[in-house]
Amino acid sequence: MSRPIRVAVVGAGPAGIYASDLLMKSGHEVSIDLFERMPAPFGLIRYGVAPDHPRIKGIVQSLHRVLDKPQLRLLGNIEVGSTVTVDELRDFYDAIIFSTGATGDRALEVPGADLPEAYGAGEFVGFYDGNPDFERNWNLDAEQVAVIGVGNVALDIARILAKTGDELHVTEIPDNVYANLKANQAREVHIFGRRGPAQAKFTPLELKELDHSPTIEVVVNPEDIDYDEASIEARRTSKSQDLVCSTLEQYAIRDPQDAPHKLYIHFFESPVEILGEDGHVSGLKTERMQLDGNGGVTGTGEFTVWPAQAVYHAIGYRSDEVKDVPFDSQRAVIPNDGGHVLDSETGQPLPKLYTTGWIKRGPVGLIGNTKSDAKETTAMLLEDYEAGTLEAPAHPGEDAIIELLEERKVPYTTWTGWHNLDAAERAAGEAEGRERKKIVEWDDMVRHAHPEYEI
Ligand code: NAP
Repeated sequence: MSRPIRVAVVGAGPAGIYASDLLMKSGHEVSIDLFERMPAPFGLIRYGVAPDHPRIKGIVQSLHRVLDKPQLRLLGNIEVGSTVTVDELRDFYDAIIFSTGATGDRALEVPGADLPEAYGAGEFVGFYDGNPDFERNWNLDAEQVAVIGVGNVALDIARILAKTGDELHVTEIPDNVYANLKANQAREVHIFGRRGPAQAKFTPLELKELDHSPTIEVVVNPEDIDYDEASIEARRTSKSQDLVCSTLEQYAIRDPQDAPHKLYIHFFESPVEILGEDGHVSGLKTERMQLDGNGGVTGTGEFTVWPAQAVYHAIGYRSDEVKDVPFDSQRAVIPNDGGHVLDSETGQPLPKLYTTGWIKRGPVGLIGNTKSDAKETTAMLLEDYEAGTLEAPAHPGEDAIIELLEERKVPYTTWTGWHNLDAAERAAGEAEGRERKKIVEWDDMVRHAHPEYEI
């Protein structure tokens, strides 16, 4: 008797939702359960994109259309690996796709990185995006702040630190975040890149929009604008890199302005040490670098100490391991061949297990790039299905997993629950003339999603 292909997708961020969408559009009859550890879906759109980026947050609208489809069922507030194990999922599904993303920070390995005011960007993002896994109260006493890394996350961090709390109040930030940002003492934010403008990872739009805040003056030292052969080639072959360079050049040559907060972007400064005084951050020591002709840099032996009372490093995210799933801890990804999960020891594909998104390829690329990843993974899964290599699960019925969750009294959240939570956040926002105000606490989210649960 024919039945739909049962697929568990683990992680309800853009990667998992795009993979689900592709499976539903494949022409195969599919039935998908989208597992999510948090009570709310959307992964990094809810908990990674900065609150003052409504254009990117707007991607949620297209994700809504995917989740509205009857073949897809959201099962939130469930941690795969503890609430249900991967082995248990094998009994309910033909295939499992891991799309758990990356929220941790890559470690900055310099002396002083363990001082209390030396933070990973991801921790601060977790705070301002109201992620209940992170700190609710952030110390923003520093008047001078250093941000290490010249990617878009560094821009997000620097922009949020350089804006005023009131500029950000129109966004969805929760009350505790507004209270902290309103008390922010930062007057100077310094971003440090260890290479040059042609090697910066910023995207042009994000770099340009720094200038849109009336309280921020972006400053670039003309001496930091330098190109070698490889840099010239990088500009010539990438329109986006060329635009980044010309925007930086414009910042470098314009007349000084009188905005109250200065945001400096420095190049050719590699972090050497985070300096401390009485156990607190007092500065950042960097070594001046020079281009080596190939897009790389070498040290000059000249050092500078930049006064700073807080240092954030935005040098890349890191994925967390999923229990009982192979993990390459060096690269912080699930080892895979085009999306098929590989056994860590034998290097052979593991039946039924697939992966997509940042946990598959590492934390690089814009949200849209995840689509091509999902295409590769889902095509492979369907090929394996057609070849008959996916062992049929013992319990392929859609009710079986629900019975297990109910037996374990798991207060799981659903798509209807998200609509309830969404309505509650919108109502809280409207009361203050804002579009939304985020609900932060884990149990509050579950209670708003499912008032019928006794929590
Ligand atoms: P990223 O783009 O890879 O940038 C990381 C930066 O850290 C690079 O400048 C890198 O310099 C630097 N770095 C790495 N190790 C370092 C070290 N030990 N010392 C000093 N600098 C170091 O990563 P990301 O900013 O975390 O962004 C991740 C992805 O999310 C990107 O694709 C980004 O575009 C995307 N994103 C987009 C938005 C948006 O608004 N559109 C917002 C946030 C993130 P080197 O190049 O020299 O290694």
